[in-house]
Amino acid sequence: MHADDTGHAYDTGRTDGDPGIVIVGAGLVGAVTALYLAPRFGPVTLLEKRADPRRVTGGQGRSLTVMLSARGWRVLADLGVADAVREICVPLHGRCGHLAGRAHVTPYSRDRQPIWSVERERLHRILLDAAEALPGVRVRFEQRVHSVDLDDPAVLVEDRQGRHRIGCRRILGCDGAHSAARAALEARGARAELRKLELAYQEIDVPGGWLDRATMHYWPTGDAMFAAFPMPSGEFSGSLFMRLEGPAPSYAAAAGGRDLFDMFAAHFPEPTAAIPDIAGQLATKAVSTLSVVRCDRWVWQDTFALLGDSCHAMAPFMGHGMNCGFEDARILVDCLDAASDWTAGLAAYEKSRTEDADAISHLSYRHYFTMANPPREETAADVLRGRLLDLFPDRFVPLYESCAFTEESYASVLRDDQRLDRLVAELLDRHGRELAAAPDDGLRARVSPLITDTVSLEDSGCS
Ligand SMILES: Cc1cc2nc3c(=O)[nH]c(=O)nc-3n(C[C@H](O)[C@H](O)[C@H](O)COP(=O)(O)OP(=O)(O)OC[C@H]3O[C@@H](n4cnc5c(N)ncnc54)[C@H](O)[C@@H]3O)c2cc1C
Repeated sequence: MHADDTGHAYDTGRTDGDPGIVIVGAGLVGAVTALYLAPRFGPVTLLEKRADPRRVTGGQGRSLTVMLSARGWRVLADLGVADAVREICVPLHGRCGHLAGRAHVTPYSRDRQPIWSVERERLHRILLDAAEALPGVRVRFEQRVHSVDLDDPAVLVEDRQGRHRIGCRRILGCDGAHSAARAALEARGARAELRKLELAYQEIDVPGGWLDRATMHYWPTGDAMFAAFPMPSGEFSGSLFMRLEGPAPSYAAAAGGRDLFDMFAAHFPEPTAAIPDIAGQLATKAVSTLSVVRCDRWVWQDTFALLGDSCHAMAPFMGHGMNCGFEDARILVDCLDAASDWTAGLAAYEKSRTEDADAISHLSYRHYFTMANPPREETAADVLRGRLLDLFPDRFVPLYESCAFTEESYASVLRDDQRLDRLVAELLDRHGRELAAAPDDGLRARVSPLITDTVSLEDSGCS
């Protein structure tokens, strides 16, 4: 027997063969990580606290749909499951904002590339099937990992038979925002922050037939937002985002039932008319909170690493949490392939990912306010920014497009966006607001000297 820090005794006598690398959590990122690792590094055991989702019906309390972008597709292609996933996806060409009775579509990219809406559960099933079909991968459900031992690598697990200790070679924490694995790093001095956002959401089933299926739809009100994503079934998966606490509109102020319906009807008349059982859904559907995680260390020596939401849970508004988690797994194996040993590989992985995760997390939170509070009137800076993107398409790429359709590092996308902001501010400072309305030739003449290859934005004083 072995006792953990809390004094609980764990059976060490049970052996089920060499578990090899243990992955804590068989969610989307855990399954992808197993698929990448097993062919390179031998046996992988996934330990999942929940029951097998392929044998139970009903969601796991998270969004029904998730958006796949280029980073996600790259990983699915690497792992040989892209074709299977594409069959269950709906392409989305933009977001359609419904404001004051008018609908306005913003394409996701200038060349009309789509991102892809996929049902979370079906994607999860495909990944679990693929992982289990791979020699060397074992997925064990209803195995709750309580803690991780980094000194003598092992996980302490509870299942129906009781508590036991599984010794292993290495441990990867893919156990989501409330990660138990992360605690092992915190015990060694890592600083981790788990923050509940002020926003909460309810999943709402939305019938089809009244909305264009080529875009996602959103109804911004400043203080709350309703969004709907098409599903292959023809229906839409809706989400009502609103503050959890505080004055109306908020879940606390509405206090459920009739109040919540009245609030919804006042803010979202169009969806209210189109969703026949909206009052019942608002009264009964769970209100879920959103968490953000930031952690300054992701790895420990040659033994341990965190991936996915366990180290960078983020607000969902850019649709990149899962895509970023998939990219973690790809970059982890790239770093391990390139390094002489696991210590160097894990260190390179941490170095390469933390800044990127911070960047996309920042952008994701900011994006909510962009969507929820669309400006009634465009400012001169907005107009000028849009015109620079149009006039210099090879030089400037819209931020959303860079995140969704390229694999450029998120941190570098953020830096480019900040440079563009500074360039716009400097141009307006030098030439006044009239520049935003200048003819194309005049605008080109003023901007070109600042953005030629020989004169970087930094050199021009715009950095
Ligand atoms: C409303 C909403 C919409 C979203 N939309 C998008 C989107 O469009 N695109 C996108 O890319 N991302 C999106 N995301 C983010 C995405 O859902 C997450 O980033 C993704 O699920 C993270 O996967 P993960 O495997 O790291 O963590 P999780 O999905 O949380 O999986 C963790 C797994 O670990 C298991 N586990 C936890 N603790 C233990 C333990 N102690 N022992 C054993 N097992 C354990 C859990 O049961 C779970 O199966 C959205 C999120 C939300 C909330």
